[in-house]
Amino acid sequence: MVTHAYLDWNATGRLRQEAQAAMTAALAVTGNPSSVHAAGRAARHLVEAAREQVAALVGTAPGDVVFTSGGTEANMLALSPVLGEVLLISAIEHPSVRCGGRFSAVEEIPATAAGVVDLAALERRLARCSRPLVSLMLANNETGVIQPVAEAAAIVHAAGGLIHVDAVQGPGRISCDFNALGADLMTLSAHKIGGPQGVGALIRRDGVQLDPLIKGGGQEHGARAGTENVAGIAGFGAAAEAVARCWADEAALVAGLRDRLEAGLAATAPETVIFGREAPRLPNTTLFGIPGMKAETAVIAFDLAGVAVSSGAACSSGKVAPSHVLAAMGAAPELARGAIRASLGYSTSEDEIEAFLKAWAALAEGLYKIRKQQEFAA
Ligand code: PLP
Repeated sequence: MVTHAYLDWNATGRLRQEAQAAMTAALAVTGNPSSVHAAGRAARHLVEAAREQVAALVGTAPGDVVFTSGGTEANMLALSPVLGEVLLISAIEHPSVRCGGRFSAVEEIPATAAGVVDLAALERRLARCSRPLVSLMLANNETGVIQPVAEAAAIVHAAGGLIHVDAVQGPGRISCDFNALGADLMTLSAHKIGGPQGVGALIRRDGVQLDPLIKGGGQEHGARAGTENVAGIAGFGAAAEAVARCWADEAALVAGLRDRLEAGLAATAPETVIFGREAPRLPNTTLFGIPGMKAETAVIAFDLAGVAVSSGAACSSGKVAPSHVLAAMGAAPELARGAIRASLGYSTSEDEIEAFLKAWAALAEGLYKIRKQQEFAA
């Protein structure tokens, strides 16, 4: 099925032209960045230029950037017992944080019904901790709800702990300044900002000690061994530079389209629930449900209409279980099981929103028919 409307940007975004061009050019460079000869130096130059671009995107120094194979690895690199005695996370984190990294145990801080971490509960728990490491996402990948990271960082630091921020869904949509957020560690992923898949970074505040996951050569100042993914890193850098330049304008356009999508959802089916709507959200994300909708059938119905959306988090798609995020928000299980996520990006067009709304109208009509038949049979 040809997809006419791609609305799954929180799973992965469209490669930016700048990233594609930088990768194509990098692929033509033969040289290992660790080699001292001219060919090696040419490859090293690409890696270091990208480090500067990624650092600039989040307002930090290039030396704070450690390139990894993506957001998942950056999270694993951050979550080490070297950095804390106890790991506290919010109940709405991505599975790559929920697994606890290299901690043997992880404690969850609850979220409110609006999908925001409960800061009072965090503060209470911190009062009973020594040397905590807290991991909190900047914005939730399912609901788009933005978390109060700067406030949490102040609380964590007052308790003598460190805070890691999984900012994978942030750049390109909201401001994402490492220092303004008060982060000690921050995870980024290239493919969520128009860069390639399989590359990301952990930003580390100067002085925060890392416990390498991958040991061997001294690449990334000993923090991550292995010959660098030069082309991927070059693409990441180019995407970061484009995002730093255009994100505010792009986010404003996307917000307008997302609002139109949400207005259309409600116009067709007024009982539609938009999860997390009461809290500040990313401008590109809508997670919605209506009674009677089954996520797995809805995703297929949208797909048959040429519209790509996902049920809950893409990483867990294929599973019918309600998402842990909606469970933490206390959503009714029947609604939670049917939740569909539409997420937009820098090249989303009005036509794509129209295609989505057309498919939605057909799907809602089908649901109403089934409901009527059930009422008739009862
Ligand atoms: N953290 C969040 C919030 C995510 O949404 C994702 C991916 O969906 C990840 C981490 C993992 O990133 P990657 O796909 O680069 O491993």
